[in-house]
Amino acid sequence: MTDLARHYIAGQWRDDGGSPAASTNPADGTTIGHFAPGSAALVDEAAQAARAAFFDTAWAASPRLRAQAMFEIADRLDAAKDEIAALVVAENGKLRAEAMGETMAGVSEMRYYAGLARTVRGTMQEIAPGVLSLFAREAAGVAGIIVPWNAPVTLLVRSLAPALAAGCTCVIKPAAQTPLVHARIMACIADAPSLPAGVVNSVNENGIEVGQAMVASPDIDVISFTGSSATGKKIMEGASRTLKRVGLELGGKAPAVIFADADLDRAATELTHGSLNMAGQICVAAARFVVHESVAQAFEDRMVAAYRAVRVGPGADPSSQMGSLIDLPNQQRLMRLIEQAGDEGHMVLKGAPLDTGAFLTPTLFRIDDLRSPLVQTELFGPIVTLETFSTEAEAIAKANATVFGLAASVFTADGARALRASRAIRAGTVWINSHLRLFAEAETGGFGQSGMGRLHGPEGLADFLETKHVYLEPGAIQGGA
Ligand code: NAD
Repeated sequence: MTDLARHYIAGQWRDDGGSPAASTNPADGTTIGHFAPGSAALVDEAAQAARAAFFDTAWAASPRLRAQAMFEIADRLDAAKDEIAALVVAENGKLRAEAMGETMAGVSEMRYYAGLARTVRGTMQEIAPGVLSLFAREAAGVAGIIVPWNAPVTLLVRSLAPALAAGCTCVIKPAAQTPLVHARIMACIADAPSLPAGVVNSVNENGIEVGQAMVASPDIDVISFTGSSATGKKIMEGASRTLKRVGLELGGKAPAVIFADADLDRAATELTHGSLNMAGQICVAAARFVVHESVAQAFEDRMVAAYRAVRVGPGADPSSQMGSLIDLPNQQRLMRLIEQAGDEGHMVLKGAPLDTGAFLTPTLFRIDDLRSPLVQTELFGPIVTLETFSTEAEAIAKANATVFGLAASVFTADGARALRASRAIRAGTVWINSHLRLFAEAETGGFGQSGMGRLHGPEGLADFLETKHVYLEPGAIQGGA
């Protein structure tokens, strides 16, 4: 590799000219490096390379080869973890602990699916005596993987690892904000000796042209997309032209429901982390506190104290407890929203920028109007609402009152109520007396406009597999070589 973050197609690093684009550190505005911009033509080449690798190499039909290559990739990611995490801090602005957490989660996920690669099994049914129906699980073909900037390691590996385990070949595209992290990950992938050329191809993005070309490509069979619900809708629409399968992991607006009997200190600790992790720029961040009216003031007092105490600063500074936003335009977007929203709810704590960098301290609104955009839209930053309820039914109705359904949490000392509420809330993940616990082993995904399909866990393979029925009657096979 050179200092320029390049594309990787058919086993070759590529830079097809064009002015290099800059990658910026959001904590101080400095340029960290440059990347080669992508194009629709490069997507075509990458998709054809992936298609050739799917049909012409042993990849799709060799589970042990796939497991071997994936373990090699995991080992290389593990060995490069300090460098990768440092790049995540520099490009994304998150804390070093968060960056290392997501890097190691990526290593863990790659190893988890490397194991699963050897257990992709079909089934058999004897339809009538001696009449066999074999149901094979086969790789779906070429997978296009489009990821956002907010967790550039984990979210890439969360789609890439099950795609590879299933036997797909891939075209992947990072977000324009995190090309250097991506290039470092690609260097680990390119270095895996057992990986056939063309199995993993990568094209950088400097706008939306590359993503759109992937969605339109006739050579890509499946799109695995993680990003906003608005973009997810465009992707689904675009994919309909070639009837691609789509897996969509989209936006969220996670409610945390706090019942009167909850341990408020525990809830405050969990939800400070649950709402401010990655400066609130995480799809499953606690974004709405839905609190029983009898404990609302006591909980609010705890949250205000906790938010005030949070040290906001550069992710590279070990004393920081919350890092920066992804860039200055997002800081300005959120500051405008705070100013404009002043009359929609009672602002309990008002967020403010720091002198330099894309920082914003936490904001807390008390709000009763469920129709408010503060409640209904994903803000993707350290801005949280506090709403109240009086009955369990009202709590559930409020928790379910947005178009999203990605994650939620329930805080109560009553085990039966915890289970009842967790089943009644329409979300892909519900945490009890905790918030924000993610594992390679446990499926994630959305109800409603938070997406379709599941990633992580055994079900994460499903987006990348087709089922084939092979029928065999007695006597239908005669002779032999
Ligand atoms: P985004 O939707 O703007 O972009 C995501 C990716 O899509 C980027 O790589 C971008 O370049 C690409 N893209 C944008 N427009 C496209 C188009 N028309 N066609 C094809 N590709 C296109 O999202 P973002 O701002 O980068 O990320 C934040 C969003 O991602 C939030 O809404 C967040 O909730 C969501 N997210 C969801 C999950 C999940 O697991 N459900 C995880 C992380 C982030």
